[in-house]
Amino acid sequence: MTVNLLDFDADGLARFLAELGEKPERTRMRALQVMHWVHQRGVADFAGMTDVAKSLRGCLAEVACVLAPQVVRDTTSDDGTRKWLLDVGGANAIETVFIPETSRGTLCVSSQAGCALDCSFCSTGRQGFNRNLSVAEIIGQLWFAKRALGDFGSGDSDERTISNVVMMGMGEPLANFDNVVVALRLMLDDNAYGLSRRRVTVSTSGIVPAIDRLRDACPVALAVSLHAPNDALRDQLMPINRKYPLAGLMDACRRYLERAPRDFITFEYVMIDGINDSDAHARELLGMVGDLPCKFNLIPFNPFPGSSYRRSSNTRIRAFQQRLLDAEVVTTVRKTRGDDVDAACGQLAGQVQDKTRRTRRAVQIAQVH
Ligand code: SAH
Ligand code: SF4
Repeated sequence: MTVNLLDFDADGLARFLAELGEKPERTRMRALQVMHWVHQRGVADFAGMTDVAKSLRGCLAEVACVLAPQVVRDTTSDDGTRKWLLDVGGANAIETVFIPETSRGTLCVSSQAGCALDCSFCSTGRQGFNRNLSVAEIIGQLWFAKRALGDFGSGDSDERTISNVVMMGMGEPLANFDNVVVALRLMLDDNAYGLSRRRVTVSTSGIVPAIDRLRDACPVALAVSLHAPNDALRDQLMPINRKYPLAGLMDACRRYLERAPRDFITFEYVMIDGINDSDAHARELLGMVGDLPCKFNLIPFNPFPGSSYRRSSNTRIRAFQQRLLDAEVVTTVRKTRGDDVDAACGQLAGQVQDKTRRTRRAVQIAQVH
């Protein structure tokens, strides 16, 4: 079977080259050479890796490949947001979105085909869980997008088209912990993508033990999907809250801050009309977060077929924002981008085949914890 080199971080690649018979004293150097070609120049053809010994190139061509998920659809929105639908086999597709802004370019990356956590406002969650993405499928989204955007070649970080990565596409990144961490390490590795920890963000629904593990394994910027100021409402919106209620989640955020590259946690808060968007909710929210250093990002709810929720009005969103600002909590409202190509948050539905059974979902949730 052909081995996909996109599955390896530096250590994994060195181990693989050692298995191929590369001398121990040379494996590290060889691994770095190959990594530079693959992750810094976007080269998939071993014949083109000119500084790699010819014998090794020949050997790699026989047993290995560099293969990202294949693109099924490529759409660009009027505002420049670009969305790719990528085939990950078995009738599953995932989505990757590039959001250009004046001072940065952000790639939104998926971590799973579907999601088991079943949040009531999320179209990915509504479809159920299919499977975890491999490292190659996660890092392959960045590799593929850089090629599609012509972003390989310039080593200068100021000139990069993709300057930031957010794990906010389909799936719960911390429920696919091991593969996500290897992919994060590649994003940060100076021999690969060399992004700073501050420019790589993991967004989680709040799997408390996994937040602690991320802090120890690879502390990048953290965004936590809060969406409710109390357990009763959060239980309804996000079933994961029944397992990890808010008090414990806030403690995990404090522990994370001890190692985080930024000195605040970003809280995402989806604004759903009449559900979680009143002034009373804002007040309760301020009481709940207390003195925890944080910023809020209010996300206008994105409706999708079959959902009965509605987006809060702009006036309500502004009023809610003002309540938080009045308490000196930095609060932004996420611009809805790429609406015309369904690239907005929570629309990343793809064409995941829904094979979910209740039991299967329960097993997945149990495995996560
Ligand atoms: N599973 C992770 C990351 C992916 S979702 C998480 O839940 O954090 C990325 C963000 O989009 C999360 O904050 C999520 O709550 C939000 N989201 C999901 N569905 C949405 C919708 N319909 N409208 C607006 N935001 C939504
Ligand atoms: Fe999963 Fe995040 Fe959607 Fe919840 S909001 S179902 S955790 S992808």
